Amino acid sequence: MRPANKVYSALGTTIFTVMSALATEHGAINLGQGFPDDEGPDDVRAAAAKALLDGPNQYPPMMGLPALRQAVAAANKRFYGLDVDWQKEVMVTSGATEALHDCLMALLNPGDEAIIFEPAYDSYRPVIEAAGAKVVAVPLEPPHWSLPLDRLEAAFSDRTKLVLVNTPMNPIGKVFTRDELAAIAALMERHDAYAVCDEVYEHLVFSGHIHIPLMTLPGMRERCLRIGSAGKTFSLTGWKIGYVTGPAHLMETVAKTHQFVTFTTAPGLQSAVAYGLAKDDDYFASLASSLEAKRDILAKGLADAGFDVLPADGTYFISADFRPLGFNGTDEEFCREITMKAKVAAIPLSAFYSSPDAPRHLARFCFCKQDAILEEASARLKAFARGGAA
Ligand code: PMP
Ligand code: GLN
Repeated sequence: MRPANKVYSALGTTIFTVMSALATEHGAINLGQGFPDDEGPDDVRAAAAKALLDGPNQYPPMMGLPALRQAVAAANKRFYGLDVDWQKEVMVTSGATEALHDCLMALLNPGDEAIIFEPAYDSYRPVIEAAGAKVVAVPLEPPHWSLPLDRLEAAFSDRTKLVLVNTPMNPIGKVFTRDELAAIAALMERHDAYAVCDEVYEHLVFSGHIHIPLMTLPGMRERCLRIGSAGKTFSLTGWKIGYVTGPAHLMETVAKTHQFVTFTTAPGLQSAVAYGLAKDDDYFASLASSLEAKRDILAKGLADAGFDVLPADGTYFISADFRPLGFNGTDEEFCREITMKAKVAAIPLSAFYSSPDAPRHLARFCFCKQDAILEEASARLKAFARGGAA
């Protein structure tokens, strides 16, 4: 029999699925895969329930419900001062995962190069490669994860079609600074490149830091496709509603990709997200502050257990160096060990690298969980670190 597609057939099961299954098998607290353990805002869910009952429930417009596209355009203005034409410059997708796929497929040709920063979210590489393009990975180095400008400059070539910029960044909680974004923008202009901006954690940024869309920098409005996700903004990861904002000349092709991937997305959920995006500033501020408090609980718990905890300025995730616990194996072995023995699951950070010289001493823990769960996970890890029963 002839082989199936070489990119997809070579892939294993995602690390999120693997660790979630191991967590279930061992009855562990799952701080691996990133999802909140509450049900999300009541009013947004009530809006969805009402829309589902009232209808319409047939195919919505391919670009998305006007109400949601208008709400996305309004949010761009309200949070970042961006003027966006909701009819030509906004499209709704089935999650940011689809949006990433649509944007990458719309921009890349075989032979193009796409720059990503590692550690990188796992869906980027396969989609870039499936488009026939080459991934050029620029590693960020722990513990500070600052952008190595010399390596970035060296990564650009006349084949560079795009840079994938994920800020706030999964898995390390890095929030790109204005200077870093300006350096990326200068190289994009020099090489006539685009950016696909994965900003799903745009509202999950902690005090002292601000989220800056690359699109707001001079010259970048025409070169960026900016992706958001209701999953993260409303703690409803199962809904899979994403949105892309970009210049009309690029959105035309992005829309053509989308029309043959999903064509459209559940209308009731779209109208509830439109309602949600119009919520007052308090909603967005308290989403960030409640997550920040959770980050603090877990950071303290991990430090008490003996980990070296790295900074996390945004997202759902914090990473920690387990070597001070005296564990000498790899990060994958460590995550399996704590899932089975401490009954707390985490994700090995090397899973987000393609390079063989990925760091192997860091684990990613997810903190969007109830405070009591975070306290219990911390206690279990502390007992494990002391060699006691979990
Ligand atoms: N990008 C990043 C960095 C993510 O962490 C996620 C969350 N899984 C996604 C994209 C996908 O978002 P969605 O669930 O809306 O598809
Ligand atoms: N974004 C989630 C994470 O990083 C996982 C999403 C998924 O399971 N594909 O944990």
